[in-house]
Parts: sequence; structure tokens; C-alpha cells
Amino acid sequence: MKIKRHKTRRVKIKNLAIGGNAPIIVESMTNVDVHSVPKIARQINQLEEAGCKLVRISLPDIKSARLVSIIQSKIKIPLMGDIHFDYQIALEAIDRGINSIRLNPGNIRQKDKIKLIATKAKEKNITVRIGANVGSINRTKYKKINADTLLKSVMEHISLFEKEKYYNLIVSLKSSDVLATIEAYQKFSKMRDYPLHIGITEAGTKFSGAIKSSVGMGILLYQGLGDTIRVSLACDPVAEVYAGYKILQSLGIYKQGVDVIACPTCGRTGIDVEKIANIIEQKTRGIRKNIKVAVMGCIVNGPGEAKEADIGVAGSQKEAILFKKGKLVKKIKRDKIISELLSYLGSDLNTK
Ligand code: SF4
Repeated sequence: MKIKRHKTRRVKIKNLAIGGNAPIIVESMTNVDVHSVPKIARQINQLEEAGCKLVRISLPDIKSARLVSIIQSKIKIPLMGDIHFDYQIALEAIDRGINSIRLNPGNIRQKDKIKLIATKAKEKNITVRIGANVGSINRTKYKKINADTLLKSVMEHISLFEKEKYYNLIVSLKSSDVLATIEAYQKFSKMRDYPLHIGITEAGTKFSGAIKSSVGMGILLYQGLGDTIRVSLACDPVAEVYAGYKILQSLGIYKQGVDVIACPTCGRTGIDVEKIANIIEQKTRGIRKNIKVAVMGCIVNGPGEAKEADIGVAGSQKEAILFKKGKLVKKIKRDKIISELLSYLGSDLNTK
């Protein structure tokens, strides 16, 4: 089954196309001190290595906005500046050549200031993400905080850009409440055709945040909504990128990369399935081959249960086997399971 994408307009950030029929991209955000250029550049390059296509950095003050061009000279992927409260930071960042900015409608509220940003963004032709987020909604103006107020908040900003006849926008409407997020995106998609950045805000820790994000984003993506995604996790942002690809891979949207499946283990388990599967997953992250790998805990049922896997291993207390599509290839030593599998997968041949 193929997911039918909701039609959005196409915008560009540097050379990266977003929306229209461009591939859905995975983005992330740095979490090191933006005032340290070496630290920020190192983290951005690590994110790029993991597959991140667009990176956002916080620009908390004018000083940080002044570093934009030097940061950009040290990285290859497009850079988006995250601006809160102070419109002058946005103007400075645009003047310094930032590829894109994200504005939070909840905390830059004066129309004349937003107009200034819109005029400058238009002049420099940079795409702006209008990113509403439930935590920063104007509570004096909106008594109830829900999908509709998220929508209203974002529409206020959009209309100011549209008044300036500027349409290179990306929109996000995030809540930490999965259902409110889904409702907001569904409603918005009927109102405008701007590309959608989707995610669940403040999703949580690596484990629960990834689950929450997968549920919310999975539903939206299944409905064809979402042109760029970020899995917000309270951990090293590199994990956000891996999680993003996993979500896309699970829905058949992203078709490259190793998909490691593993049995849940039971009383028959003869090898350390969890450890082996984790190592294989980590070591094969750079492989772009579309391949399914199984790690199964017993020889009796493992190969049959993982018939759909292109290659797999299964083991008992005494021996281990390598199998393809459920059929035995060869017996292997129990302490050679990982190396035999990796060797097959060609990760030692730099297939990155
Ligand atoms: Fe248990 Fe074997 Fe099935 Fe794994 S493959 S869950 S060890 S029966």
C-alpha cells in the first residue's frame, strides 16, 4: 500500500526542497551552546552524518545571530535559526545570511515587528517556518488551549506574511498532546497549502518520546500529512534523526537502510538477542541497502518466524546459524554471530 501525500506547495531552504513532491526530510535541532562555534559545528556535522537534512539552532541573543555566517561556513546542511521574543535577532540572522528562520507566533506578537521580518525575509528570499507550539500560546488572548487556538495563533502570523505577499512558509502546529496535534494539522491542511513540519513537542525521553512521536507522526504521515519531520527527544539529537528515519521506514516512506527485526525472546532463547540486535542496529546505521535483518533467539522457530528477513541469525545454547529467507545458509560459531552477520552485510566494505 502506498501512502498518498497531501499536496503542498514547494519551498526551498538553500538547495533543499521541502513540500510538493520532494521527499519527506528528517531534521533536528542542536542542544550545545550556540556561542561556541566549534561545538555547534561539530554537532551539526554529526547530525548530517546521521542523515539530518536540515538543522535548527537556537538564537537566544544578538550575539548568537552574529555567528550565523561563520557557523554556516563550517557546515554543509541548511541552517534554520530559532527565534523567540526578539524580532531584532531575526533581522540580524537574516542579514548574516541564515538559510531560514523559525518564528514562534506565541512570543513575537507585535504586528509591526513581524511585518519587518516578513519584508526582510521576502527581500532575501528565505523560507520562514511559522511554528506554533501549545506551550507558548498567548494565554491572555486565548482562554482555551487546544487545536483551534494553535490554529488561530499560527494563522495570525501567516496572514501578516500573506499581506506582504510572501508565501515561502513552512508551518508547524505542535502540542505535547498527540490528539490535539493531529487535529490541528488536519484542520490546517484544509485551509492552506504550505508545507508542514510535523512533530510532537516536548515529547519526552528517548523511550517514551519516541513512542509518542511515532504514534502522532505515524498517524499524520499515514494520512499524507508532513513534509519535514522532527522527533523531539530529551537526549543526543543524533538519536532524533535515527528515530525519524525509523518512523519513515516503518511506513514504507523511506526505503533505504537496514531494518533489524528481533524476536521478543522466550524460554527457548539460546543467545543474547537484545545485545546482538542492538549492536547490529548500531553498526549498520550507515548502510543504505534496503535490507531486513533478523536476530532470532532459537534455531527451532527462529528461521521460520523470520522468513521475510533477507538474512538472519538464530542460536541455541550450543550453536548458531545464518539463514536467508528462512533457509539455512551455514552453521556459525556462537561467538561469531555479529562478525558473520556484519561481514555478510558488507559494513566492513564501506557500503555507506
Ligand atoms: Fe522464542 Fe524462538 Fe520465537 Fe524467539 S524465535 S520468541 S526464542 S520461539
